[in-house]
Amino acid sequence: MQILLVEDDIALVTALKKALVTEGFAVNCLSRGRQAIISVKTELPDMVILDLGLPDMDGLDVMRSMRLTSVDLPILILTARSSLDDKVAGLDLGADDYLAKPFDVDELLARIRVIERRASSFKHSGFTIGGVLLDTVSHEVSVNGKIISLSRREFMLLKSLMENAERVLTKESLESKLYSWGEEVSSNAIEVHIHHLRKKLPDSFIQTIRGVGYIIKRT
Ligand code: CA
Repeated sequence: MQILLVEDDIALVTALKKALVTEGFAVNCLSRGRQAIISVKTELPDMVILDLGLPDMDGLDVMRSMRLTSVDLPILILTARSSLDDKVAGLDLGADDYLAKPFDVDELLARIRVIERRASSFKHSGFTIGGVLLDTVSHEVSVNGKIISLSRREFMLLKSLMENAERVLTKESLESKLYSWGEEVSSNAIEVHIHHLRKKLPDSFIQTIRGVGYIIKRT
């Protein structure tokens, strides 16, 4: 999952990015509202974490602009302002959730999981397809009841394919869900992860659609 983090406090950006990347998210960071509005249109992130106090624009105006083009985009607001008015205004303008600074990183991660579940068609912490169970909270994957060990990126790749079951995902879209901006990505990175995943999963669980990408089918 690709998260766009819009925040101008460099210390906070560093801490949050570290925590989110450890969770397996691809995290892209911007410090200006104007850049963020453009990025939402061009990069199509899966979620935005937006600070309301940005140097160039009011965060609520940034969110209003994002909502015009991306109606369903999950947006979580961060702010130092703790007044009820700001919270109500943020939620009225279409924020999915709201955290007042200072906050605990674990709390942020929990809120992200809730938003993620709400946005996906899966309403619980785990989902099962063809004997493969993936738990988004414990990060465990089991095949026919036996837990298998996956790297962080293998887990995120499998999760992306399972939550988009019956849909073909291109190599490019998978790369954007797995890697943050500026990260070194070898041209065959996704193929290599798929190769490792296939050795641990049932035969033909992940199918290749030649020249297009990869798909997991429900049956
Ligand atoms: Ca700020």
